[in-house]
Amino acid sequence: MKPITLLTLLLLIVITMEGQNNNYRQLTNEEAHVILNKGTEAPFTGKYTDFKAEGVYCCKQCDAALYRSQDKFNSSCGWPSFDDEIPGAVERSLDADGRRTEITCAHCHGHLGHVFLGEHFTDKNTRHCVNSISLVFKEVTPEQTAYFASGCFWGVQYHFQRQKGVISTRVGFMGGNIKNPSYKEVCTGRTGHAETIEVIFDPTQTDYETLAKLFFETHDPTQVDRQGPDIGTQYRSAIFYTTNAQKATAEKLIDILKQKGYDVQTTVEAAPEFYPAEDYHQHYYQKKGGTPYCHIYQEKF
Ligand SMILES: [Zn+2]
Repeated sequence: MKPITLLTLLLLIVITMEGQNNNYRQLTNEEAHVILNKGTEAPFTGKYTDFKAEGVYCCKQCDAALYRSQDKFNSSCGWPSFDDEIPGAVERSLDADGRRTEITCAHCHGHLGHVFLGEHFTDKNTRHCVNSISLVFKEVTPEQTAYFASGCFWGVQYHFQRQKGVISTRVGFMGGNIKNPSYKEVCTGRTGHAETIEVIFDPTQTDYETLAKLFFETHDPTQVDRQGPDIGTQYRSAIFYTTNAQKATAEKLIDILKQKGYDVQTTVEAAPEFYPAEDYHQHYYQKKGGTPYCHIYQEKF
């Protein structure tokens, strides 16, 4: 084979693979005007401006999860407004006007809108002003929401946010006896809450069993009310299930581990209300760098 033919062949393979990986949605002219040519839809015309439902807003072009409904607020500006993005999902750059900050999808670089700071709409003092047409809303069902408690939630989040098929994670508290506890209150060990991670996942890319295995394989489920140096009921090992199928999966995995000789102490409880922890606890290792001291992956299944 001549070198040039080989090169052409390789190039073709690369192009074909790129096309398969991207799997982008075919855009209408109206969508392309905003997403590819950085246009702006007319205010108060988009379908998500006043839309309220629990779920995730994904990129119209590539389906990457960008925003969560919890971060949407009413700014009366005529476009959907969010005061936070899913970490790593949105990139910022100086707009062509040299003044505003443009926001684009970090995965496909499709245009979303602009981000504005210092307007004091919410505590985060940030407004992502996003074209509805750049977004696709996806409802989040209990089936695709998992809650795990396995010690210091910083380390737990470190592992789950890297897992394939995980759309977003938050750390917080579950299973205690007061509403909206602060980290400080939970740290006393007197509120009864466990440090917990909430995991939203895409069921077409992963499943609950895979995530529950990761939970067992990134902590020591045989310890009672502690993980390594962290001691107290807030560091207990627990699965808070949202469906009976999740409960059955959790119990099945515990049985398997017991047969393998692990004296599993993990409790399996119906999910009570989840209270998100303060912002500075979210994605701690991603922000500060480093790796967890007490959560190290160890194969158990
Ligand atoms: Zn995208």
